[in-house]
Formats: sequence, structure tokens, C-alpha cells
Amino acid sequence: MPTALRNLVTGGAGFLGSHLVDRLMEAGEEVISLDNYYTGRKKNLIKWITNPRFELIRHDVTEPIQLEVDRIWHLACPASPVSYQYNPIKTSKTSFLGTYNMLGLARRVKARFLLASTSEVYGNPEVHPQPESYRGCVSTTGVRSCYDEGKRIAESLCFDYYRMHGLDIRVARIFNTYGPRMVPDDGRVISNFVVQALNNSSITLYGEGKQIRSFCYVDDLVEGLIRLMNSSQPGPINLGNPRQSSIRQLAELVRSKINPKLDFVSKSLPQDDPLQRQPVIDLAIKELNWEPKISLEEGLDKTIEFFQDELFNSKADVF
Ligand code: NAD
Ligand code: UDP
Repeated sequence: MPTALRNLVTGGAGFLGSHLVDRLMEAGEEVISLDNYYTGRKKNLIKWITNPRFELIRHDVTEPIQLEVDRIWHLACPASPVSYQYNPIKTSKTSFLGTYNMLGLARRVKARFLLASTSEVYGNPEVHPQPESYRGCVSTTGVRSCYDEGKRIAESLCFDYYRMHGLDIRVARIFNTYGPRMVPDDGRVISNFVVQALNNSSITLYGEGKQIRSFCYVDDLVEGLIRLMNSSQPGPINLGNPRQSSIRQLAELVRSKINPKLDFVSKSLPQDDPLQRQPVIDLAIKELNWEPKISLEEGLDKTIEFFQDELFNSKADVF
């Protein structure tokens, strides 16, 4: 009988990690989710708890661990600015020590290693849209640097393990992704807007809402991660939806779907908030035959449905 691939998903209880776990489990593979539950939730994984191919480990990636696996999907790191700025020193430790420990594990067991990097490595970009060749414009001292610089050193570590030890690495630069299982109060824009609108509260526009983002639906993103892992490309490869929208346009779209009578309320723009962000995905199209399929309108409908259920129908958490 062929043996199933053994996957380690760090950050497996989080938003992206839990959708990735679903895909790997549905493909008949073995999965270990490793998480410290800082922003992740066990209930995201509840349907796999009794499956013999699935295991949960509570562990912090800043500490080393010994496991036998074939593939490591390294997603553990808070992604929302509110969460990663809550304890920025811990965020830097998670990015550096966490990636270092997981790369060390990959080297010992000869596992293929995928890093969930970010468009934040481009900082507040002066080049728009951003191709992988753009080297970025990151403040080394600002409030976002724990995350931005953390992911930059994580990418450096991956490429040094690749050059020094021949480690089989994959680096994905993920752009803003949204969908079911985002945490309602994690402060990210889509969860904020949808939750505010469902609660009939004003929608909070930071600054004038002229800043540009590009939003990818979670199923598209996870498909991109899987194709990258199965490819022979170390990357870095941008994964995101190239359709851009201003934050005000996004607010208008959410409002039109939930309650057109809602007001917008202006709040100050957070420090170092990037003005623009949009991926060039030519490399992903060419090398992975991947591009997003789900429109913002369709993805928002699924996300609104999730939050409606989460806010108004959800039973008490089982865990
Ligand atoms: P998330 O916060 O939902 O998930 C992160 C998971 O990592 C959580 O389950 C959390 O508990 C866990 N974690 C955090 N620190 C840990 C530690 N020290 N040890 C063990 N577990 C830890 O965020 P997400 O949106 O699912 O993001 C997953 C990954 O993708 C992150 O690495 C993030 O940087 C990257 N990413 C996400 C986006 C996005 O838009 N969602 C964009 C770019 C990059
Ligand atoms: N934003 C906003 N209102 C909110 C939350 C966020 O206007 O309630 C803006 C934020 O200033 C940023 C954009 O939306 O320009 C995306 O924010 P998010 O935190 O989701 O991700 P970022 O791309 O900044 O990491």
C-alpha cells in the first residue's frame, strides 16, 4: 500500500492553516497541526479530531521540536496588524526563531519546506503593482517592522538553508487573503467591515480610504500554496488576486451587500499603513498554472454567510 505523505502544518488552527489542513486531509494525506493558539482556534479543526490521519500538537515554534514528516508548511505567525503589533518582540521571535527551528527540523528529516511569506516584504511600495523582483521599501524602525522585517529574515533563512544545505524550499509571498474562519475581531479590514455592517454599526475607514489593496479568496490562495509545494520552484512567488480596490470601494461593496443605509466613520490612518498593494502574478501563472478564480463579490458573499452564522447562530465553542 502506498504510504500517505506526512505533513506538518504550523499555524494549522489559524485562518489559512485550517483551510490548508482541510485540503490535505481531503486528499488522504497525514497531517499534524502545530499551533500555540495565539490567534488560531481548535474549533477550526474540529471535524478532523477523531481522524487517525490527523494529530494536534500545542507547541510554540520559537522552541525546537522533533517530528518525522515529509513536508512542512510553515504558516505559524500572527497576520493581522492588531495581533502582530500586540507583542512585537514575540512576533520577531516567531518569525526568526520559529522559521529557524522549522528549517532545522526540515533539514534533519529531509522534508520539503514551504514558508508563508507576505506582500509586506514590499513594505510601502514605490513600485506598483509589485513583481517578485521588487526589493521593497520597508521601515526598519516602524510599528510594522516586527512583521515585515520578520518575514524578510525568514525568507533569508530559507534561501541560506537552500544554498548551504540544499534544502528543498518554497517561498510564497501571500497578498491580502480573506474568507470564512477569519476571527471577527482580529482587526483586518474585511472582517471589520463585514462584522460592523452585520451589527448595523458605522464602517470604520482609516484615513480617507484611498489606500489600495487586492483581496484573494482563501480557496484560491490555498490552491496556490498546494501548487507551489508540488512544483519545483523555490520562489519567491507572489500569490494573490491582482484585482485592486480602494478601501473606500471595498466599504461601499460590503455596505451595498449588507445594509446600504450605513454610515462611514473616519479614523486616523495607522502608522506606516501602505498606500498601495497589488501583485504581479505572471510567475504563478507561468510556473504553477495558477490564478484566482473567485471574484470579490462571490468571495464576500461566502464570507458574509460565515460571519452571519458565527455572530448570530454559533453555539458556545466546543473547545
Ligand atoms: P492567523 O493568525 O489566522 O494564523 C496564524 C496561526 O499561527 C494561528 O493559528 C496562531 O495561533 C499560530 N501561531 C502564531 N504564533 C505562533 C507560534 N509562536 N507558535 C505556534 N503557532 C503560532 O493568520 P493567517 O491569516 O492564517 O496567516 C497564516 C500565515 O500566512 C502567516 O504566516 C501570515 O504571515 C501569512 N500571510 C497571511 C496573509 C493573509 O492575508 N491572511 C497574507 C500574507 C501572509
Ligand atoms: N482598514 C480600514 N478600516 C478598518 C480596518 C482596516 O480602513 O476597520 C484599512 C487599513 O488601514 C489598511 C487596509 O484597510 O489600509 C487593510 O488593512 P488590514 O489590516 O486588513 O491589512 P494590511 O494590508 O494593512 O496588512
